[in-house]
Amino acid sequence: MAAVDYITNKFICNKKDDVMNNNLDFKKYFPIFSTNNVVFLDSAASSQKPATVIEAELGCYKNQYTNIHRGTYKLALAATTAYENTRIAVQKFINASSAQEIIFTKGATESINLVAYTYGENFINSDDEIVVTICEHHSNLIPWQRVAKKRGAKLKVCYLDENQDFSLNEFQSLLTDKTKLVCITHLANGLGLEFPIKEIIKLTQRDTTAKILIDGAQIVAHKKVDMQDLGCDFFVFSAHKVYGPSGVGVLYAKEELLKIMPPFLTGGEMVKEVSVTETIFNDLPYKFEAGTPNIAGVIAFKAALEFVSGVGLDKISAHEEILIKKLEDELQVIPGLKILGAKDKHQSLLCFVLENISPYDLATFLDNQGVAIRVGHHCAQPLINYLGYESSSRISLGCYNTEEDISKVVSAIRLAQKFFN
Ligand code: PLP
Repeated sequence: MAAVDYITNKFICNKKDDVMNNNLDFKKYFPIFSTNNVVFLDSAASSQKPATVIEAELGCYKNQYTNIHRGTYKLALAATTAYENTRIAVQKFINASSAQEIIFTKGATESINLVAYTYGENFINSDDEIVVTICEHHSNLIPWQRVAKKRGAKLKVCYLDENQDFSLNEFQSLLTDKTKLVCITHLANGLGLEFPIKEIIKLTQRDTTAKILIDGAQIVAHKKVDMQDLGCDFFVFSAHKVYGPSGVGVLYAKEELLKIMPPFLTGGEMVKEVSVTETIFNDLPYKFEAGTPNIAGVIAFKAALEFVSGVGLDKISAHEEILIKKLEDELQVIPGLKILGAKDKHQSLLCFVLENISPYDLATFLDNQGVAIRVGHHCAQPLINYLGYESSSRISLGCYNTEEDISKVVSAIRLAQKFFN
């Protein structure tokens, strides 16, 4: 039986009983499922929160709350320690070599903007090239459009192959000695394909001197990532997609880069000394954390990482692979339904279009059947337009989804077809 240890506020999962026996009913650890009878299939937008995370955030405000890095009294020192313990937990979660390489932000969007405004605007020069893919979330595209325009650099886009799959050859053909930045998603939120990120990094490092930013927003809740193994320069993600609170994000960057990058925001706590005219900036990672952060959110984020580690990312991944395969198998035989992205390669999410039924009509119909999915361009408008559509329907999984959820959404889609046609 998996359980919550309320003393240490840790999620304890007895793998033998719960996971090995495939008893993966994790819904019971997520209070939202006891108050809402919903088949929730929109975790790519934001995941639901286990009780331990909710209690950790509440517990911070009830028992531990003060500002951090400021007060010298016991309560303030305890809050600071709890906040910094999350940094260490993140470092371990992604196997960064030092906690100084972990910067807390508001989310993946802010993390990418931080890199764009500091590294991009200072180290990208006229005629340099930035490579992205057509699959990027707007958060990993617009900041680079701006940098390219401001610095006179060229933005190059890697398109998909004829099977709507990522092509390493196409990617390689874009690399030149002018490539100075590669900004690429690990798992495309509008397609559901995991990119071969290790090969992409290897190739880029072999053929260029470019720095590499990985948008890990959609991968971290589903697969283990390891900064020392990947060797990328920047890696970003949001806590809210990995069962943590919203308003908390992570920027991982190699220490040598953080040292040469100027600060992003300026103000309190990112300084060592300030005179009327000059400022000496603080050491890492505080140089990049101006102002009062989301203290309770960061503290509760540790509980989310403990939940994920308690269950085991390998187990979550195996469970979701079974579900996504069942979903893909059952959807691809529905007449008039087209799944976007290369066949049988989806991870944790899947987008599709239905002949004669607008995604918005479908979502409303499904909602009335108690099934929550996402429709629209998924903040990846260039991708959806490139594929020839204005919008699509997206089904995305969390560890709490079950085979029954998949059966329900598939039946509801079939029912919608009967209703609309
Ligand atoms: N990158 C990807 C691939 C995403 O899916 C998202 C959010 O959906 C983001 C970046 C932006 O994340 P956030 O809105 O948490 O900053």
